[in-house]
Amino acid sequence: MARAHLTAGSELDNCSARAAGCDFSGYDLDLDWAIALIKKSNATRIGLQAPEGLKRALPALARQIEEQTGSEVIISGDPCFGACDIDMLLSQEVDLMLHLGHAELEEGPKNVIFLEARVDEDLTAIAAKAASFLRAKRVGVATTIQHVHQIDQALQALRNCGIEGLIGPAGGRIRHAGQVLGCSYRSVRSLDVDEYLFIGTGRFHPLGIALATGKRVVTADPLTGNVSEIDTDPLLRRRFAAICLAKEARHFAILVSKKPGQRRMSLAKKLKALGEAHGLQMSLVFLDNIEPDRLVNLGAEAAVSTACPRVALDDAAKYGIAMLTPPEFEILLETREWVRYAFDEIEDGPAL
Ligand code: SF4
Repeated sequence: MARAHLTAGSELDNCSARAAGCDFSGYDLDLDWAIALIKKSNATRIGLQAPEGLKRALPALARQIEEQTGSEVIISGDPCFGACDIDMLLSQEVDLMLHLGHAELEEGPKNVIFLEARVDEDLTAIAAKAASFLRAKRVGVATTIQHVHQIDQALQALRNCGIEGLIGPAGGRIRHAGQVLGCSYRSVRSLDVDEYLFIGTGRFHPLGIALATGKRVVTADPLTGNVSEIDTDPLLRRRFAAICLAKEARHFAILVSKKPGQRRMSLAKKLKALGEAHGLQMSLVFLDNIEPDRLVNLGAEAAVSTACPRVALDDAAKYGIAMLTPPEFEILLETREWVRYAFDEIEDGPAL
C-alpha cells in the first residue's frame, strides 16, 4: 500500500481541516485524496486516529467515508499525542488506517496512512515583525508541521529586512526541511548560526531549540502575532529542583512507553543497570499513557521517563514524585556533568 503524508500531536493545538461536512476548524487536510485512496485500495474496514484537537470531526468523517466508500469505519478512542503514538491494535483490526494530523516519523505498519494537518496562515507579517527582535544577520529558522509548507514566506520576509534565514534539513524523524519536533532538534543543530527564529504556537519547541543549541531564540506566533525572546532560566531552575528532590529517593521507576515511536527499552535497561550500580532500587515499568495514578501503587519515590520528553519537562507538576529525563538521571548519579543542560531527544539527542 502506498503511503502518504497528511501532521502534529500534542503538537496540534487549536486549529481545523477542510472536507465536506467535517469541521477540522483551522486545519487543512486533503480528505478527498484519502477517500479516493480508500476507494482504490478496496479496503472494507477503515480505522481513524487523530489527536484531541481534531477528534471532534471524526464521527462526521466516519459517516462520510462509510457513505462514499461502503466501508466500515472504526474510530480510535484513545488519546493520540503524535505520530509516535499509532494505535497498533486498531491498525491490526482494519485494512487501512488514517492517522490524521501528524507527519510520519519512521517506518510503521504498512496499512497506516498519515494525513498531515496544515494551517493556512501567511507567515510574511509575523516574520517581518520578528525581524526587529533578531540581533544577527544570519539566523536559523524553524517551525512545526502546521506551518512548514509556508516557511519560504518567512525566509523571503526576513530577506526583505536584510536577514538571511537558514533552515535545517529533513532526516531521521524530521520529515520536512525547517521542521522541529518536541523530541528532535537535529535540523536546527546542524546549522552554523548564532541565533534562531521559531515560528509557531506554544513555548515547548522554542525552549527545546534554545536548550538543544545553547543559542538565543526568538519565538513568533503567527496566530496571536506575539513575538518574544525565550528565557530558559525558569525551566532550568525547575529541572535543577527536580534533580535535587530525586537525590532523596532510593527507589526509582524507569518508565518505558508502549507507544511505538516513544519506546526506548534499551535506554531504560541501561539506566536501570546504572542505578543499580549506584545502589538504588530500580523498577522497569512498561505503560501506555503515563499518568500520575498509574504510578501511585508502585511505591517508587522518583521516576525517570524514557517516553516523550514532554512527560518530564512539560507535565512534571502533575506527579507527586520527582520525574526526571534520562540525562537528568545521569546528572543525579554524577555520570554526566551539567556543563550545559542536556535536552532529552528521542534521536541523535544526548540521551542516546
Ligand atoms: S515523542 Fe515526539 S512526536 Fe511523539 S508526542 Fe512527543 S514530541 Fe511529539
